[in-house]
Amino acid sequence: MPISQFSKYKDIIEEGDMALIWISRDNLKPVTIKSGQVFNTRYGSFSHDSMIGKEYGSQIAVRTKGSNRFGFIHVLQCTPELWTLSLPHRTQIVYTPDSSYIMQKLQCGPRSRVIEAGTGSGSFSHTFARSANKLFSYEFHQLRYGQALDEFRDHGLIDDGKVIITHRDVCQNGFEISKADTTSYKFKEGENSVDISADCVFLDLPAPWEAIPHLDNVISKTKKVAVCCFSPCIEQVDKTLEVMEKYGWHDAQMVEIQGRQYESRRQMVRKLDDALERLRDVKRRKQQGVERRKRLSEQLVNNEDVSDDVRPTTPKTSYNPFGKGSRVKEGDKQFEWKQVAKIEAEIKSHTSYLTFAYKLVDKTRNEQLVEELIDKYKD
Ligand code: SAM
Repeated sequence: MPISQFSKYKDIIEEGDMALIWISRDNLKPVTIKSGQVFNTRYGSFSHDSMIGKEYGSQIAVRTKGSNRFGFIHVLQCTPELWTLSLPHRTQIVYTPDSSYIMQKLQCGPRSRVIEAGTGSGSFSHTFARSANKLFSYEFHQLRYGQALDEFRDHGLIDDGKVIITHRDVCQNGFEISKADTTSYKFKEGENSVDISADCVFLDLPAPWEAIPHLDNVISKTKKVAVCCFSPCIEQVDKTLEVMEKYGWHDAQMVEIQGRQYESRRQMVRKLDDALERLRDVKRRKQQGVERRKRLSEQLVNNEDVSDDVRPTTPKTSYNPFGKGSRVKEGDKQFEWKQVAKIEAEIKSHTSYLTFAYKLVDKTRNEQLVEELIDKYKD
């Protein structure tokens, strides 16, 4: 049975593990480790046997054929964050800048029972599965349901009972799960329906306002319940807020995560003299070219031999930061540098609006419990 490496940490790479191979920052591949197999990259071929027995995080190097150089990869343990960066996309997905924020706003922890719809590519499902007690995930697309079920099973999330995935249109048919449904839930003898009692709800659907009215039947009656709707346009947020209010969800709040990564870099200080020298150099070369062309055409008109006329070799200009030329290593002591902060061109995040709201069904106070607590802590 596969071990859910997404929930438990392990130190050593073993046969049968699903590992993530880090080739470069934007190239991460999930691989099942099997003795005798080879992982091929354009940097070299890495045998799985060279990985087995090593610690997760190890660098594996191979000599590049016919050269003295080495290609290398890193073998990493699967985490929901790395899985999000490497998973096969079947839909738009929720990335870590959003999921991490949503997790803390929903206060999702080891006692949480979570509803998620739709499952999509299962990106967020892995984050919920690591932290929550139970995840009830719903997907109405038949093929995607099957793919997500297989993937969750391969990752050990179905067998350890953490994740229950159900094939369902939640807008039409709500969230309740019964024996007649296509679901991964394993019904016990005599059990006909599932006690969901969710206290965290995440809706990544085109029309979350159609699903919200169905939540009352499946949320916890005793705990404060938090919902988050992930919607790309403000009109969707508007409709969602209207329905949330109608169905008693309160303290609504809308947030947009704008992830940015700043890099610290050194930038060469460019002076006016350098720019002027570059312009003079361009002018000099242009002049030489014009003169040569004129001379050649005159010689050709006069039927003179032009074979001696060779292209002038202008001396290679020393490095000019405004022109072409040899590359200079960042920080080269021969030049002046200043420290700058650059924003990374693209950070992976699907910018959507996050609408949060809360509901407490049973608002009556357990007076006896309150008395007991006051007694207990009065000194
Ligand atoms: N949050 C997911 C992730 O991180 O991978 C991505 C969800 S994807 C954007 C939305 C999914 O919702 C699609 O797979 C779609 O088939 C499913 N869906 C849309 N409407 C649905 C409905 N009424 N009931 C169940 N699933 C639905």
